[in-house]
Amino acid sequence: MSQQDGTPARSSALFVNPVGQRRAEFQQACAPLFGKLRVADGAAQAQSLLAREPADLLVLDLERFELGIDLAALGALVAQRAGAPVLVLCPFTNARWLPALMAFGPIEYAIGPLQPPETQAVLAARLEAGSAPPPEPTPREEELRVLLAVRTAAQRALDESDDSARFAERLCEALAGWPGVVHAAMFHLRDGDLHLEAEQGATGLRLAPLLLREGRLLHSPLRHAFPGLLAAATGEFTLLDAPGKAGEPELADSLKGYGVQMVVGLPVPAQGPGTPRGSLCLLFDHARPFSRAQLAALDDLALVAVFGLRMAELGRENEELLARVTHLATTDALTGIANRRHGEVLLEQEIRRARRYRLPLALIGFDIDRFSTINDTYGHPVGDIALRTVADTARALLRSSDVLVRAGGEEFVVIAPHTSAIDGLKMAEKLRVAIEQAEIPGCDHVTVSLGVAQLGETESGDSLTVRVNAALARAKRAGRNCVELAMQ
Ligand code: GH3
Ligand code: MG
Ligand code: MG
Repeated sequence: MSQQDGTPARSSALFVNPVGQRRAEFQQACAPLFGKLRVADGAAQAQSLLAREPADLLVLDLERFELGIDLAALGALVAQRAGAPVLVLCPFTNARWLPALMAFGPIEYAIGPLQPPETQAVLAARLEAGSAPPPEPTPREEELRVLLAVRTAAQRALDESDDSARFAERLCEALAGWPGVVHAAMFHLRDGDLHLEAEQGATGLRLAPLLLREGRLLHSPLRHAFPGLLAAATGEFTLLDAPGKAGEPELADSLKGYGVQMVVGLPVPAQGPGTPRGSLCLLFDHARPFSRAQLAALDDLALVAVFGLRMAELGRENEELLARVTHLATTDALTGIANRRHGEVLLEQEIRRARRYRLPLALIGFDIDRFSTINDTYGHPVGDIALRTVADTARALLRSSDVLVRAGGEEFVVIAPHTSAIDGLKMAEKLRVAIEQAEIPGCDHVTVSLGVAQLGETESGDSLTVRVNAALARAKRAGRNCVELAMQ
């Protein structure tokens, strides 16, 4: 400050905001603090005013800039200051403008909304600091070390977790190690709404009761006020450096009750354009300014979260795909039971198991009698319904350990573990009766002929199948709708 006639010359300032009412309010509240206060409605006017006469302090008020903000033009103003003080008043919902402006040069910031007395206090503190720009809030070595550890832990979570819930848990554990963080949470947008995927902290704080909802958080009455929800819903970096500023006194009181003084909401963006995938939320025990490097580190963490969620999603999609392919490859499309190929694999499996545990195994084959006349009389679609009804009827009778297979056309096989020839015969008879009695929409009842065999001590699956088919052929020859036991 220069000295003239023994009293300090009072500073000059230029205030920039596009809304006339904001400019008037600022002038009313803060003009007495300055020797000279000028106002500008945007970057262009500020530029020409500064060209005419420099100002000790440039105040960029970003409140209500939402619509037509031209960050490049404001950034040019910051760059031209060449280190002279710039104070940015930034709404808590648009904190991403801060790193954008920091890219042009050093700035100080205060998070809004600020009441006039708060604005006065911020400016008084700034004027106290003199004309030199304050040093960038550089993280101490210790803090950097912790920050690196947080990032390493986050990356490890990425490597080691294969589902999104586990990944979120591990990431929150890592974030809770950030200096000053008392609670960390991850919100995930899935199934059309926002869910609290994980949270970690040592204070006993639980976010669901605070946000007045367990799930469907996009519908929380506090979604406009809580940075985690706001960041996920809008995709904006949200920085609430005093819980009270969000305009929800009860929420603010609850947060303060847990020692929370600052809440950061980091959007976790989708990879393409569109809605974000969720958010990370950090609750700090003290309000602190962030340097550009620290804001970049926060961005990094959001990116780790993007990859983690994407990888977990890909893992889930792969599993679903594999399950679908496996289902298609092993299931008969008409009846939903095992197809012939899968039946052969399952028969070999059951034979091995029966041998290992020295248990009996029976195979029952059955074939619908005169099925071609069903097709001829009622048509193929009704024939299909008959096939499904036969499969459903058989399935309903069988134990969960039995396997029903469509061996082809109107032929079925039952693999019955732990079943002797006698029990197999009983089972076959039950099947015969149940199928004979089953109602088939659109057509007559059908009957089946059945063959039964018990696996020989050293017999192969092929040989067992041949014997069952021979017994089944005898049942056909015996007049159909009956059961025959296979020869040894
Ligand atoms: P049998 O008592 O000797 O077994 O006489 P059948 O008429 O049942 O035997 P056949 O082998 O002559 O005919 C089987 C019929 O089953 C012929 C075929 O069109 C029919 N079929 C096979 N698969 C399907 C299917 O998926 N849907 C329908 N509707 N019919 C099928
Ligand atoms: Mg038949
Ligand atoms: Mg047949």
